[in-house]
Amino acid sequence: MLNIKIEKTSTPKQKPDYSKLGFGKYFTDHMFLMNYSTEKGWHDARVVPYAPLELSPAAMVFHYAQELFEGLKAYRRADGGIQLFRPDKNIERMNNTCDRLCVPRIDPADVLQAIKTVVEVDADWVPYDEGTSLYIRPFIIATDPMLGVHPSHTYIFCIILSPVGSYYAAGINPVKIGIEREYVRCVKGGTGLAKAGGNYAASLIGQKKAEENGYAQVLWLDGIHRKYIDEVGAMNVFFVIDGVVVTPDLTDGNILPGVTRRSAIELLKKWGMAVEERKLAVDEVIEAHKNGKLNEAFGTGTAAVISPIGELCDGDNIMVINNNEIGPIAKKLYDAITGMQWGKVEDDMGWIEKIN
Ligand SMILES: *Cc1c(COP(=O)(O)O)cnc(C)c1O
Repeated sequence: MLNIKIEKTSTPKQKPDYSKLGFGKYFTDHMFLMNYSTEKGWHDARVVPYAPLELSPAAMVFHYAQELFEGLKAYRRADGGIQLFRPDKNIERMNNTCDRLCVPRIDPADVLQAIKTVVEVDADWVPYDEGTSLYIRPFIIATDPMLGVHPSHTYIFCIILSPVGSYYAAGINPVKIGIEREYVRCVKGGTGLAKAGGNYAASLIGQKKAEENGYAQVLWLDGIHRKYIDEVGAMNVFFVIDGVVVTPDLTDGNILPGVTRRSAIELLKKWGMAVEERKLAVDEVIEAHKNGKLNEAFGTGTAAVISPIGELCDGDNIMVINNNEIGPIAKKLYDAITGMQWGKVEDDMGWIEKIN
């Protein structure tokens, strides 16, 4: 058990208009902090008023991007209680990312306790409206004030909280996706499997190009063969080809192991549906579309849960999928996962962790 000191703010903020939350624009009254040093290990766990961090301009995170993060949500149930969805999977992934970036691990039980404690302190920030939630952003930064290229000896682990609006306030609208053939997000042996801020810096240019071309997101291809599908934007991607659900496998370490991805696969298997985790060439998808066998396509991630792909664009080749509507498999997964998250359907998978 962590000994978490709690210092409450004397000046709580005014709450934002909960009907106009958007994503990641507002932050709650408190945050969790914990420090690491080689001598003391992880220490000084505390919940303090939300405030700027003071860091040396030489702090390593600013120069060599030794940084990692997680993303999960707290959901308000109809009975007023608050719960998390598979936080153990986020915590396990955070520690795997630590390993890849030479950051010291944190005891999973301590991370869960930290998340629960800070959410409880700011419990009145967990919104009630349909589809809304409290987004939880744990992150770790390297703080040694040194420009030599080495793993840092000191770190800060911080958790901030942001009430977020319904992703689908205007209904589930399938998005337009552009296949990216110039830039790549990561390569085998790189950091694609890690939730590292640096991956996002590398992906911005592809995202910018996609937006300039009128697409919502990028479909990333693998960095070596430029042939196999990796992910869509910052989501994992699924295709339903001739009735079989196919998603890229994780073996090359260039795909982020999404908690939503994993949950979708486990549910599909439970429902007795055909699911394949394997290499998927973009040409196979294009061919399936040509032959009328591309039934559905969708992205998965904590923010949107399921994001149907209505159009896949490859230069001049514009492929409309399922008549630009959400498909039956995407819909079934969306209903099952969100039902459990907001406590509307029974959790028969053991995925819900109640805070209160
Ligand atoms: C976080 C993330 C995902 C989705 O993971 P979830 O755990 O389902 O939210 C997918 N791809 C990338 C690159 C990500 O950073």
